[in-house]
Amino acid sequence: MPQAPTTLSDEIGIALGNLADAAAAPFTPTLRLGVTGLSRSGKTIFITALIHALLTGGRLPGFAPLTEGRFIGARLAEHPDAGIPRFAYEDHLAALTGKTPVWPESTRKISQLRLVLKFQSKRLFAGMLGPTSLNLDIVDYPGEWLLDLPLLSQSFAQWSASALGRASKPHSNHEAEGFLNALEGLDPETEASDVTAERLAKAFTEYLRLSREDGRALSTLPPGHFLLPGDMEGSPALTFAPLPPPKGPVRSGSLYAMLERRYEAYKALIVRPFFRDHFARLDRQIVLVDTLRALNAGPAAVADLETALTEILGCFRQGENNPLTWLVARRIDRILFAATKADHLHSSSHDRLEAVMNRLVAGAARRAKFAGAETRSIAMAAIRATREGVVDDRGKPHEVIVGTPMAGQMLDGVTYDGKTEIALFPGDLPERPDSLFEDSTPVSLNFLRFVPPQKLDRNAEGSVVLPHIRLDRALDFLLGDKLR
Ligand code: GDP
Repeated sequence: MPQAPTTLSDEIGIALGNLADAAAAPFTPTLRLGVTGLSRSGKTIFITALIHALLTGGRLPGFAPLTEGRFIGARLAEHPDAGIPRFAYEDHLAALTGKTPVWPESTRKISQLRLVLKFQSKRLFAGMLGPTSLNLDIVDYPGEWLLDLPLLSQSFAQWSASALGRASKPHSNHEAEGFLNALEGLDPETEASDVTAERLAKAFTEYLRLSREDGRALSTLPPGHFLLPGDMEGSPALTFAPLPPPKGPVRSGSLYAMLERRYEAYKALIVRPFFRDHFARLDRQIVLVDTLRALNAGPAAVADLETALTEILGCFRQGENNPLTWLVARRIDRILFAATKADHLHSSSHDRLEAVMNRLVAGAARRAKFAGAETRSIAMAAIRATREGVVDDRGKPHEVIVGTPMAGQMLDGVTYDGKTEIALFPGDLPERPDSLFEDSTPVSLNFLRFVPPQKLDRNAEGSVVLPHIRLDRALDFLLGDKLR
């Protein structure tokens, strides 16, 4: 992974931004927690569950500040950045806790929310003994945007060569066909035309979209803003596509020159500001990964996920290569990789899912020569939609999960109506995670989307309790040490 994500002026901008953050909050320290993951990996659900658990002191036995009696409480605070949408916590919670709970709308662009956490500090020597506060800024952004980092050090010609090489691979046939047809017979030296640029961009975006469908679940295709454009949707900076190289020198009025300019505009107007203004200001990061979906889609999707994680890890820039390290006060010091939706498996497989996640990240870390920040892997369900049971199969006990598949979900020729509860044997993960990377036979999982829990308990104060798996451990890793 090339190491040129930001320029010198960006570095100074980041440093000044960090100083400004510190000046704006002289008394209350702020922890900026980045929450990312590819589309539908579970960011919206995780953030909603996390905020709700902190606001209501939810069931969090693995969250040491709570069990040790140090955590006093949390409240929502005024949104700190006027230019970034607020995370729609209230709407998402309302969807999950309404009369008929439904999953809320997913993350489409960056959003943010601030919580103030109050706790009893034990840090006598730091002069902080007694009740004290921490601002927790949660920054939610699409993981697709991280995949854009390598583009910063690639020319249009280099990016085009790798994107076209990939689209022409046999395993991309199904999704890339339309785009390759659109390119067929097109001379890159032809006159520049908005109509042609739009047609190619549309076909290329469709190729990216098809790659992400269930059953394919491929994930490593930049430009990340094509599928999640944020506020720049439809602008020229998002209307380009890879082109084969022209035979002679590039003519400035040619289609090739036009798309090359747009590619450079995409980097300057979209990619670089995101890294400079948002990513570089994070202190901690959780990367959510729908590992089970990739396992279910087969070895190509698993290999692809591993590549995506390698690229994401490459974004966590290390100090040694950065001459202005001393200026950049903020540095991500903890990264949690969470395999989400662990409630799709029986708890007897949760440790195995964690091992798979570890294996996925270990490969990525090795290749990216990543060192420095503390990383951990966890299997988690931010909101648990199933319970566990045992069914008797001709005298043999079978561990199953019990839940209501969403309307339209299909398994073994049966289409579910969204109302019928079923007991499902989800399948086993292999004991040795390496086998997932060696074997060409996919693990056989029964993977269905379930409706969210329909009957929710209430705690002594009357607040709804959202069931989860290991959310408390995730919180403890991400925040626990900051609440001492
Ligand atoms: P985002 O695009 O990363 O924000 O993804 P979401 O948080 O919206 O999650 C996408 C979908 O995954 C949801 O609509 C749910 O169907 C499912 N999902 C997310 N988290 C969980 C979980 O903890 N358990 C279960 N069973 N499903 C989940």
